[in-house]
Amino acid sequence: MTALLQIKGLGAGYGRADVLHAADLAVAEGGVTALLGANGAGKTTTLRAICGLIRRSGSIRFGGAALEELSTEDIARLGIAHVPEGRGTFQRMTVAENLNLGAMSRRDTGQIKADMTKVYDYFPILEERRAQVAGLLSGGEQQMLAIGRALMLRPRLILLDEPSFGLAPLVVRNLFAILTRVRREENVAMLIVEQNAALALALADVAYLLETGRVVLSGAAGAFAQNERVRSAYLGA
Ligand code: ATP
Repeated sequence: MTALLQIKGLGAGYGRADVLHAADLAVAEGGVTALLGANGAGKTTTLRAICGLIRRSGSIRFGGAALEELSTEDIARLGIAHVPEGRGTFQRMTVAENLNLGAMSRRDTGQIKADMTKVYDYFPILEERRAQVAGLLSGGEQQMLAIGRALMLRPRLILLDEPSFGLAPLVVRNLFAILTRVRREENVAMLIVEQNAALALALADVAYLLETGRVVLSGAAGAFAQNERVRSAYLGA
């Protein structure tokens, strides 16, 4: 498999504090990579570094492009959609307005309507609520809206930060079933950060374990789920 995203020696941090130390990581074209680790390991920081939101060093290659040279806007325009922690939807705007914002940087405007229909097909509740402001949606619906908005970019890669956070188990299962469908039907790669390691490993092909800003383990998601260290620390086995 060709790597769509290839990260080598990634360092990143806030102010003078370094959080990531020479992390290597890859996401294959159309593949799903899971990034696991304890609280504070640097998972969110990795996603922010890829998007250019924070100071970073090292090499981040996406397709043929060197992301470390680019602005956040240009990185989005290349096809990387970020679904941040806390979802980042515009609370006072309607569902439909939020989805349209996701398509803002696109040039192929003729396809936007068809993509909106597709998002409504994945998330029928969003179509029902399309005229409602995002702030009135449930947590699960807001997460669906955030993922729907990311899909409106027609991304080649979606960065998902803890999509299960704060959601009831049934809602989480439903959400991951939809993500499984998205990965099957769209040629989109995903890099997913999750506390729910079992769900993330079921969705992913490849996984990485971060500990205090360093990659300490990587491999096929299936083998990861069998690894003693991962099982005892992250799978509750
Ligand atoms: P969690 O699951 O708790 O979100 P994480 O693996 O995503 O953990 P990060 O959010 O990347 O961890 O945080 C890594 C380190 O960076 C932590 O020590 C955290 O305190 C620090 N950090 C995160 N955001 C900032 C910030 N905006 N300014 C300063 N330090 C930060």
